[in-house]
Amino acid sequence: MNDELLLRYSRQILLPQLDIWGQEKLIQARVLIVGAGGLGCPAAMYLAAAGVGHLTIADDDTVELSNLQRQIAHHTEDIGRPKAESTAATLSALNPNVKVEALCRRLEGEALAAQVAGADLVLDCSDNFATRFAVNRACVQAGRPLVSGAAIRFEGQVAVFDPRQPDSPCYHCLYPDQGELEERCSRNGVIAPVTGIVGSVQALEAIKVLAGIGRPLTGRLLILDGLQMSWHCVNLPRNPSCPTCGASS
Ligand SMILES: [Zn+2]
Repeated sequence: MNDELLLRYSRQILLPQLDIWGQEKLIQARVLIVGAGGLGCPAAMYLAAAGVGHLTIADDDTVELSNLQRQIAHHTEDIGRPKAESTAATLSALNPNVKVEALCRRLEGEALAAQVAGADLVLDCSDNFATRFAVNRACVQAGRPLVSGAAIRFEGQVAVFDPRQPDSPCYHCLYPDQGELEERCSRNGVIAPVTGIVGSVQALEAIKVLAGIGRPLTGRLLILDGLQMSWHCVNLPRNPSCPTCGASS
């Protein structure tokens, strides 16, 4: 780390838990962020600002006017631009030391498996269950930790799934039934700061897992009721007969 980087990250290096060694780990880390919307924007911005060295942003959508209320990496002049590209431009301006890769397509099949295997950690910031299940499956298969977030209305959820730990559940353990769960903020509405809160919690959990500090939300689901401003956390047991991570899979 040169003097400029030491100064840029000085307020993190000051933290005894992180120290220069933890910052070096962040600089070496590769993170895949699936979705550059309400959760992906703040999560990616905090990870870039904090100095996570390599960020890959995957999103097949383009910026629309109705996104700007919460998707804070995109600006008014980005309307019509691919979200992955718009996010990458914001991140590079925020911290030119971070290598940012924009994938302006939906990650599926072998391409998804390859991107997950090439990352140290994956953030699921998507808005649909098909993607969530596919990303979870790829993380279980490649043994990569997954930080999963969701926000709708005034509510938020965050959980960490770490297949490297034998007692960790996976996303599929939490939602065994794939049908009837689809809820999107495009139909239900969402209050802007709740996406920022959830995306920021995802970024913090990613930093903790990458640096190996603190107690991540592994096997726990953190639930926010923003209207009452109350948080609670429930333990998530692993489902031994889970079709994705169970013994028979
Ligand atoms: Zn499972």
